Amino acid sequence: MKAAKPIIWNGIIREFQEFLPKVKDDNVVTLREGNTPLIEAVNMEGIFESGLKIFLKYEGLNPTGSFKDRGMTMAVSKAKEDGSHAIICASTGNTSAAAAAYAARGGLRAYVLIPEGKIALGKLSQAMMHGATVIQIQGNFDDALAIVKEVSKTYPVTLVNSINPYRIEGQKTAAFEICNQLGFAPTYHFLPVGNAGNITAYWKGYKEFKEKGIIKTLPKMMGFEAEGAAPIVMGRPVKNPETVASAIRIGNPSSWEAAVKARDESGGAIDMVSDDEIIYAYKLLAREGVFCEPASAASLAGVIKIHKKGIFKNGDMIVCTLTGHGLKDPDTAIKSSEKPVTVPPDLEKVVKVLGFKP
Ligand SMILES: *Cc1c(COP(=O)(O)O)cnc(C)c1O
Repeated sequence: MKAAKPIIWNGIIREFQEFLPKVKDDNVVTLREGNTPLIEAVNMEGIFESGLKIFLKYEGLNPTGSFKDRGMTMAVSKAKEDGSHAIICASTGNTSAAAAAYAARGGLRAYVLIPEGKIALGKLSQAMMHGATVIQIQGNFDDALAIVKEVSKTYPVTLVNSINPYRIEGQKTAAFEICNQLGFAPTYHFLPVGNAGNITAYWKGYKEFKEKGIIKTLPKMMGFEAEGAAPIVMGRPVKNPETVASAIRIGNPSSWEAAVKARDESGGAIDMVSDDEIIYAYKLLAREGVFCEPASAASLAGVIKIHKKGIFKNGDMIVCTLTGHGLKDPDTAIKSSEKPVTVPPDLEKVVKVLGFKP
């Protein structure tokens, strides 16, 4: 008998210590986030020619179901180290879920401001369940962010939105993992853009791995906003952003300049996709067996849009970040799917629905 072989993942702060700001080990607040799978898409042959390799970085498998955990473990650990007893954020949902969970874990209070009636049910339930003080703002994300910035200036609470630099530090580790998983950097990296922290973080991560000589090339960063919430594409803030992809329903991104820099330095693009294109990609991903939330699918919708322009070359390696889990937003999933058939408890009727001859 062979002994059980421990496979232990210690969370991103401990695993990527040498690349991150130092945190005293006692102050590390972790749910062992990170180490998410990179899954090759295998059912998309009808859409892309063979030769194009698409990999899905499934960030929905983080502890609270989105990539926000990578940034939150850093931000909350640092808040704790700095002696803070409370954190605050504005959120389209996932930041509040992560803030609530990591605050609970670390014994801090969490205050979250969300746009009233505008966040997906799963995310709201997480913030409530982990005991955060949830305040619904009769306004949008941008209004909520303006308020939490003011509160954190005056009162003893640490702001954990992505303007907190530790958030970006934590989130860059997803780029490290992709390089480790592929053995090199992809040709293109596609991801949804909301507040634009994540595209900023990935670019930082890739550049740091290149500086250390761990990878030889850098990817082109391809960010996608939703058409109804596309300030960077339009070149001006959007007053009332609208899209089915609630996680990227943002009209005035915090990391606007850094995102533009990532685009320009990498030779990439920031473009937009429609809600129809997002839902199409969302369903395509479900056919891969991968359930993500609508905002996440903006990455694949972007790949489809760029593919139609004939820009990709054979052998190009494409990574899409799937930022959040599909279970976050069951309403959109149900709206986008075939309704279940209802029949009496009768064998013949069931067999008929199955399409077999009775
Ligand atoms: C936060 C979030 C985004 C947007 O990320 P930014 O860093 O704000 O650009 C996209 N998808 C999901 C699921 C998110 O939670």
